[in-house]
Amino acid sequence: MKPPICDLCHNDFRCEYGHRGTGGGAVSFADFRALPEGAAGQAHGLEWFCDEHLASAKALSHLPHAVAMEQLRAEHGPFPEYPPLPALDPALWVIDVGPQPAKVFSVLRQATRLSPQEAKQRLAEGVFQVLGAWPAALEVWQQALVEAGATVEIRYPSSRNIQLFCR
Ligand SMILES: [Zn+2]
Repeated sequence: MKPPICDLCHNDFRCEYGHRGTGGGAVSFADFRALPEGAAGQAHGLEWFCDEHLASAKALSHLPHAVAMEQLRAEHGPFPEYPPLPALDPALWVIDVGPQPAKVFSVLRQATRLSPQEAKQRLAEGVFQVLGAWPAALEVWQQALVEAGATVEIRYPSSRNIQLFCR
């Protein structure tokens, strides 16, 4: 799941939303597809909008996301690009692969979109990040990896990163 940042104007309302559930909301568009149960990441066609643009976005939610965004940009004007975000979600790490690397490999491939080659490379590194996501989404993979014999750890973003947006 992406953090609550307006898809149109890039207004960042993570703090308001995180503390009070205000500042904006999510809109599912006509091409919305829910994630398979337990999968981490962002559902297709589901985007955040700040309070200022939420109503306009909802009014166009019968359209596919890309079409709605074209109309919204035409209506509200272009907005500057914003720099890539620092990692703010906790991340699941494998600390030790354990005695059954083939099982860990299989879980890693299901949890991520890594190619077999990339997954092998991570396993060879021994200590590696599996994925970053909201904690509930990590739990499934954490459990699967433990069952596969791996030692795992959830690492939280540093408070420095959090202060960047909670002003
Ligand atoms: Zn906005």
